[in-house]
Amino acid sequence: MAYDYDLFVIGAGSGGVRASRIAATHGARVGICEDYRVGGTCVIRGCVPKKLLVYGSKFTHEFEDAAAYGWTVPAPSHSWPTLRDNVNKEVDRLNAVYLRLLDGAGVKLHMGRGRLMDRHTIQINGGQVGEQTVTADKILIATGGHPVIPSIPGCELAITSNEAFHLPELPKRIAIVGAGYIAVEFAGIFNGLGVHVDLVLRRDRVLRGFDEECRTAVHDSLKESGIKMRTETEIGRIVKKGENGPYEIHTPLGGMFETDLVMYATGRAPNTKGIGLEKVGVQLDKAGAIAVDEWSKTTAENIWAVGDVTDRINLTPVAIMEGHCFADTEFGNKPRKADHRGVPSAVFCQPEMANVGLTEEEAKRTLGDLRVFTAAFRPMKYTLSGRHQRTFMKLIVEAATDKVVGAHMVGDDAAELIQGLAVAIKAGATKAHFDATVGIHPTAGEEFVTMRAARADTTPTRAAAE
Ligand code: NDP
Repeated sequence: MAYDYDLFVIGAGSGGVRASRIAATHGARVGICEDYRVGGTCVIRGCVPKKLLVYGSKFTHEFEDAAAYGWTVPAPSHSWPTLRDNVNKEVDRLNAVYLRLLDGAGVKLHMGRGRLMDRHTIQINGGQVGEQTVTADKILIATGGHPVIPSIPGCELAITSNEAFHLPELPKRIAIVGAGYIAVEFAGIFNGLGVHVDLVLRRDRVLRGFDEECRTAVHDSLKESGIKMRTETEIGRIVKKGENGPYEIHTPLGGMFETDLVMYATGRAPNTKGIGLEKVGVQLDKAGAIAVDEWSKTTAENIWAVGDVTDRINLTPVAIMEGHCFADTEFGNKPRKADHRGVPSAVFCQPEMANVGLTEEEAKRTLGDLRVFTAAFRPMKYTLSGRHQRTFMKLIVEAATDKVVGAHMVGDDAAELIQGLAVAIKAGATKAHFDATVGIHPTAGEEFVTMRAARADTTPTRAAAE
């Protein structure tokens, strides 16, 4: 049977766009549909605008530090509408770039929501354009995820990161609920822009799952920067007091504080609803994500899925890798599995945190003896200004093999640094390789190649370490 397309992709975010472009480059006839804006969460309302807001909010610290370097900075004032509109203009530009990329690759875009009618038929509800039906030999689902807000009284009053990029004005105070990537990043953004931030988290520290010492370093830095850390705090209900707030945040134990805006950053869930998965035999895993094998293939013979909808590692570059591997395998005659080992990542809190490989806790659980090297110091830039900001670095080495199995950093430019180390670690670098590498002076990065003494409590006593 002749289909309209060799490949049809549902969802034009990072994973879907990469897969469709590469498949088209390999000669496939490719269609794609998108019901919001081409570019997906990362470009439209995630990583990219977030990072620009981080840049915008960091100037506060630069102005403060400038005096020690001899600058007189008149009391700075900030225009949120200028920052917001410039960020959104950049998002529009990137959206146009993505549209051109698809067009240039010969991928046909259908604006509208895709729904599987059977294993080869997709109905696209295109709003004003009306309904269209297309057929395809192979189908890729790349529908991403959406923010989840726990169901408590008043939860409908809260915003998520989606709305944070479009606020008509900055609130004087904001309560951010959660302690993951998005919560700590936006806490830094709003704090830098002069908003009083209450960070409401249900545990004792932010960023569960990351290296424990790094978590503590980030937590202490957030506190030091003036963010009110409301630890071990659950929210029972949110009450709006006037037409435009303020809001009362009530805890189940009778506590209460007031704020002007409430933002939830309590995780994201895969977009699996309303796309007809049940009709075509695409099964979900226990967590509600699309179940896929190592080739990103679903339980349906001709249907694949990549990116956050599969809830493997929910990061843009990972979705891109998965999409690219799928396209090469299915249309390029170059079978490639996505490699989810040694994926570096960063949290753009202030100061930022980045890591690659195992945390110390994971390494202790899964490997034998370890040697752990750490460095904590005040960055050179702040020696003149006296800013209380520390940089923390850690290398985790498997004693038996001398392999560096984890690198972690909290401090300025951590993401830039760790990206470089990720290559070395992917290539199997040993501590001896790090020791043999000459540092660049004076930098923070040179600390990674001059750490000589393993931390006493992790120095192995076994002969294997000698
Ligand atoms: P995360 O999964 O990172 O964190 C969710 C946070 O919400 C955790 O601190 C969790 O607490 C808390 N939480 C969950 N449920 C509740 C609840 N009912 N009440 C109170 N707190 C709750 O989610 P995010 O929303 O921050 O980010 C979503 C994903 O987006 C991330 O997993 C990441 O993959 C991606 N992302 C990546 C970025 C980057 O690469 N820099 C930036 C932003 C997002 P607990 O730990 O106690 O469970």
